[in-house]
Amino acid sequence: MGKLYVVGIGPGGYENMTLRAVKVIENSEIIVGYTKYIEMIKDLIKNKEVISTGMRAEVERCKKALELSKDHVVSIVSTGDPGIYGMAGLILEMRKDEDVEVIPGLTASSAAASIVGAPLMHDNCNISLSDLMTPYELIKKRIELAASGDFVISLYNPKSKGRPHYLKECIDIVKKYRKGDTPIAVVKNALREGQEHKLFTLDSFDDSVVDMMSVVIIGNSNSYIKDGVFITPRGYKIPQ
Ligand code: SAH
Repeated sequence: MGKLYVVGIGPGGYENMTLRAVKVIENSEIIVGYTKYIEMIKDLIKNKEVISTGMRAEVERCKKALELSKDHVVSIVSTGDPGIYGMAGLILEMRKDEDVEVIPGLTASSAAASIVGAPLMHDNCNISLSDLMTPYELIKKRIELAASGDFVISLYNPKSKGRPHYLKECIDIVKKYRKGDTPIAVVKNALREGQEHKLFTLDSFDDSVVDMMSVVIIGNSNSYIKDGVFITPRGYKIPQ
């Protein structure tokens, strides 16, 4: 009897993987994943059969992993958390009677938050600006509602060559509901090689620094910057 683990490998470095993720990968016979993610865990999978596929081959990758898991122990890997814009949903939708277990990982917004301070301390949401599977009208509606609901917003897939103006348009929607000095963080390659971050406000935001390796965190109406650190207060009374 085989098994399929849908494994979150975290943002990219070994030290930010969970022990459970490391263990299931070590105990798997076959590793399936997008070429770039396989590269991130290459030291862990030296003697294993590896099946890597290109960027947009998600359905094919999941089908293969499910097939192999009938007779083998297989890990299909996603960066961050596999249940957040990862492979967990598709695998569970396609599963028939295969044995599947989801192994969570540290998602990009949490990784990014730790680098700039504590921006996610109050109610927050993730919104992906990718319109590959979500109509842009719906994305804008979600931005509008999250902004009017005063959620801290983490933008995944914030910018790509095919839709360079979406980010700016979404920031303009947020501006209708938030003050100009609301903090925004751009974190690129959080907790992995090439890490960079920049803090802005809604008024000073410059989207030219943002790419697909970045996550953008927009504060709520109480968020502020203190000594270069982005904080969203939880609401505790602080003794003076
Ligand atoms: N499952 C992943 C998300 C995949 S969607 C997770 O839970 O993190 C891909 C998007 O995630 C990227 O476009 C980027 O916005 C974000 N992302 C993933 N890893 C990142 C990292 N290390 N630093 C910054 N953003 C990251």
